[in-house]
Amino acid sequence: MIPKLRIVPLGGLGEIGKNMTVFEYDDSIIIVDAGIMFPENDMLGIDTIIPDYQYLEDKLDNIKAIFITHGHEDHVGALQHLMHDVDAPIYATPLTLGLIEGKLRQAKLLHEVDLRRIDAGEIYQVGPFKMEPFHVAHSIPDCVGFGITTPMGLVVHTGDYKFDHTPADGWPPDFAKLAEFSERGVVALLADSTNADKPGWTPSETVVADGFEEVFRQAEGRIIIATFASLISRIQQVADTAVRHGRKLAITGRSMRENTKIARRMGYLTIPDDLLVDIEQVNKLPPSKVVIMATGAQGEPSAVLGRLSHGRHRNLSIQEGDTVVFSAHAIPGNEEMINRTINRLYQRGANVLYDQIANVHVSGHASREEMKLMINLIRPQYLIPIHGELRHLRLHGELGEELGIPKDNIAVVENGTPLELTSRSLTICPRMPGGYVFVDGASVGDIGWSVVRDRDKLAQSGYFFASVLVNNAGNQVGSPDFFTRGLVEKDAVDELNEGAAEAIDRTLKNARGSDKATLTKRLQESLGRYLYEETRRRPIVEVSVKGTA
Ligand SMILES: [Zn+2]
Ligand SMILES: [Zn+2]
Repeated sequence: MIPKLRIVPLGGLGEIGKNMTVFEYDDSIIIVDAGIMFPENDMLGIDTIIPDYQYLEDKLDNIKAIFITHGHEDHVGALQHLMHDVDAPIYATPLTLGLIEGKLRQAKLLHEVDLRRIDAGEIYQVGPFKMEPFHVAHSIPDCVGFGITTPMGLVVHTGDYKFDHTPADGWPPDFAKLAEFSERGVVALLADSTNADKPGWTPSETVVADGFEEVFRQAEGRIIIATFASLISRIQQVADTAVRHGRKLAITGRSMRENTKIARRMGYLTIPDDLLVDIEQVNKLPPSKVVIMATGAQGEPSAVLGRLSHGRHRNLSIQEGDTVVFSAHAIPGNEEMINRTINRLYQRGANVLYDQIANVHVSGHASREEMKLMINLIRPQYLIPIHGELRHLRLHGELGEELGIPKDNIAVVENGTPLELTSRSLTICPRMPGGYVFVDGASVGDIGWSVVRDRDKLAQSGYFFASVLVNNAGNQVGSPDFFTRGLVEKDAVDELNEGAAEAIDRTLKNARGSDKATLTKRLQESLGRYLYEETRRRPIVEVSVKGTA
C-alpha cells in the first residue's frame, strides 16, 4: 500500500460549529479541535451537539494527541465528552489550557487528563507529526493555527483567524511564519471559510473599541453588554472603556464569570480589582456609574439577558434609560430568538443597540480579501476549505480557483468525507455514514448521551425511537416504548414494533453487564440492522436506556 495521510473532517465542514479534524498516518492519529455546536431553536430539550466521532471507535489506541487551536466552545466544547473515550494528551496554549481545565474540572475528568502547554513558535513532535503552532489573530487571545509536517509534506491548518493588525490583545498574526511555511512548500492548506461570503476585509477589533466609546459617551443610564462568554477580547475592551468613563463593571452569567476569572488569573485580562463590583451591589450605584456584562447575546431564554427580557432575573430588572448592547453576531438560526429578546427589552424601556445599527461587534473571522491573502501567502498545492456551511466552503474553493489553484486540487467536502493525501495527489473518499450527536441537558458530562445519526436523512429515511427500562441486573422491565415516523404504513407499525422488541430482547441478553453507553449503542446498532432488513431503509435510530434504581 502506498503510504498516505488521511485527513478526516468530523465536524465544522458543512456547518458552523463543532469543529474537529482527524489527521491519520499509518497507525498514528492526531486530532485538531473538538468543539460543540449550539442546537437550532426548534430542537427542544437539547443543549449541545457534539461531533460524531464513531470513525475513531476502533482506533482509540492510535490517538497520540489532541491539539487545540483556541478556547472557543466550537473548538473545545466536546472535550469533556471525547475524553471519556480517549486517553491521549491535550496540547494547547496557556489561556486555552486554562479554559479547558475549567471544563474538565466540571466534568470531574481533570485528574484523568494529561494537559500539555504549547507556545506559538515552538515545535512539538508527536509520532510522525511535527506540530508547529503559529499565532493568529481572532477574538480570543492565545489563538494558534498549526503547521503540521507529515511524511507526506507540510499541511497548514489555520484554525479561526483574521488578519487584524491591531487586535485587542496587541498580538498581530505571525505573517513571517506563514511566509516561511510557503518557502518550505505546503502540500495542503485547511483554511477557515466562515466569512467566505463577506467581501473586503474584516474590520479590526479597534473598531469595536471606538463603537463602545460612542455608546459610553451617549448612554445616561446603565449599560448592559451581552456577548459570548468566551469572547475574552471583548470583555477587555468593555473593561478599558469602563475605566475611562468612571463606571464600575459587574460580570454576570456563570460561564462568563468563570472565563473572566481564569483569564485574569493567567494575565490575559487586565481588569483592576476596584473596577469590579458584584451584581448585588449594582442597584446601590447611580445608573450612570454602572456597566454590566452578561451572557445571552443569542437570545437564549435561560441566559442573563433572556431572563432580564422576561423580568425573571434575581438581582436585576430592566429600567427606563438602560442601554442594552448586543456585541455578537447572530448564529444562523438564532435570529428569531434574538429579535424577540430585543423587542422584549424595548418593551421594558431599554434602548437596544446591535451590530446593524452601531459598531458594537466585528467578526473574528477573515473576509474574502484576507482569505485570498492567506492562500497567496501559503501557495498550497491543495486547498481544503474548512469551518463553514457548504456555500461558504464552495465560495472559498472558487476563491482558490481564481487565485490559480487547479479545480482538481480543491476539495470541497462535508463532515465524514475522508481525504487521502500524498505529496502528489489528493483523493476524496466516499462519505461515511454519520452525523450529529446530541447531548441533552440531563446527561451533559455523563456518558449516557444518545446518538442521532444523519439528521438530513430524517425526511427521506424515517425516524425510530425506542425507550427501554432495565433493572440493575440488566434485565428488561416491562416492554419497550416506541415512536416511529416515516418508516412504514400506519397499519404495519405494530408488526414493526413487535420485531423491534424481539431485537431489543436479544441484544439485552447478549450485552448483559455492559454499561449504559455501550448498551445504548448496541441496541442502536441491532435496531438499525433490524429496521434495514425490514424496510430497506436506514432511519435515524434513537435509543433511551433508563435504569429502575
Ligand atoms: Zn473561534
Ligand atoms: Zn470557531
